[in-house]
Amino acid sequence: MLVFKFGGASVKDAEGMINLAKVVGKYKSEQLLIVVSAMGKTTNALEKLTKAYVDQADDMHDIYEGIKQYHYDIIAELFEPNNPVFDEVANTFVEIDWMIEDEPQDDYDFIYDQIVSVGELVSTRIVTAYLNKAGLKSQWLDVRGYIHTDNTYREGVIQWDKTRESIQLSIPAQLERSIVVTQGFLGGTSENFTTTLGREGSDYTASIFGACLGAESVTTWKDVPGILNADPKLFEDTVKFDELSYTEAIEMTYYGATVIHPKTIKPLQNAKIPLLVKPFNHPEEAGTIIKESAAHVFAKPVIIIKQNQVLLSLSTKDYSFISEDHLSDIFGKFAKSHVKINMMQTSALSFSVCFDYKEEYFNKLLASLKENYKVKYNSELTLITVRHSADGFIKNLTAGKTTLLEQISRNTVQVVVK
Ligand code: ASP
Ligand code: MG
Repeated sequence: MLVFKFGGASVKDAEGMINLAKVVGKYKSEQLLIVVSAMGKTTNALEKLTKAYVDQADDMHDIYEGIKQYHYDIIAELFEPNNPVFDEVANTFVEIDWMIEDEPQDDYDFIYDQIVSVGELVSTRIVTAYLNKAGLKSQWLDVRGYIHTDNTYREGVIQWDKTRESIQLSIPAQLERSIVVTQGFLGGTSENFTTTLGREGSDYTASIFGACLGAESVTTWKDVPGILNADPKLFEDTVKFDELSYTEAIEMTYYGATVIHPKTIKPLQNAKIPLLVKPFNHPEEAGTIIKESAAHVFAKPVIIIKQNQVLLSLSTKDYSFISEDHLSDIFGKFAKSHVKINMMQTSALSFSVCFDYKEEYFNKLLASLKENYKVKYNSELTLITVRHSADGFIKNLTAGKTTLLEQISRNTVQVVVK
């Protein structure tokens, strides 16, 4: 059996849905489980809605109407008015209607997951209905009964034993009857509340299903030809990797390559299941295959650019050294504020950390660090990571920019620049 994952960009409009059905149609003879993200930029819009609701902002209803209208416009293009999908979509949005009727009581992260999850619940309804319309027999599956997590909202931790058991118990039989379509990015708690697995987490969902079902492979369909050595929006003459090892792929995602979610590889590596990254507009192309042993050819260095970085330096208030106790306290504060460190460096009197700027988390972090330390920071910086580069390459790349921090190891150079 095969697991496919379609991201938001592949289902952003009616044309995308039609293309998805075309791709799936090529695999008619296979057992298929399809994981789908929210359509287009829906997750960002639902994040805005969550914030507007919690702040009780004036534009809350406008944001919500915009999200609904976007979906209704697409289904109006794809289906006859009497198709049951219209009711299914409306019934899914009702969950938000109910929630925002009352003033917010619960914790922000909890509210976020209950609202933001609707993006995937709706997109999968539409994909299932459209595949059926196209003659590809499909069944909608509520992933929250299969991917079990703890109560960490926005960052649900998978409970593997329970998840494996649920998936193995009933999904193989369902796959014999029809294609199964389910939501990426979502999980369910033991009290049946919805969790999410972290932004861009649908790849991870596909990998969990792939691992638990012993799939032949997992394919993530993208708007790029495969995994490239650099972002084609930022660099000319990029090259595609035909093959990558699990290890190299893990390293790349760790440093911020966004083609695949960082947690995706491990379950597949453990189960020795290959991950394919293929272009949804040219399904016949080979894309990139990630597997145990790959013939790596780094004809060009791997370049990973992360924008919107903060470089923050901490020192103690009494000029004492930064000790192990301080570090443990500092890491604790980062973990508590959900801020992931991209790069760090210690010196006698200060500790510097580079991380992604996210408004809500940043303010919380800053306040808690200021309790014990002197804090200085620069924002709007860029973190450049280059792997397998020839000497001098990074110098050319950063020419004309101010370097604030640099770190060099055997295969990797990282610089924070302004
Ligand atoms: N829709 C979610 C997001 O945009 C999950 C995903 O796309 O993988 O973060
Ligand atoms: Mg997405």
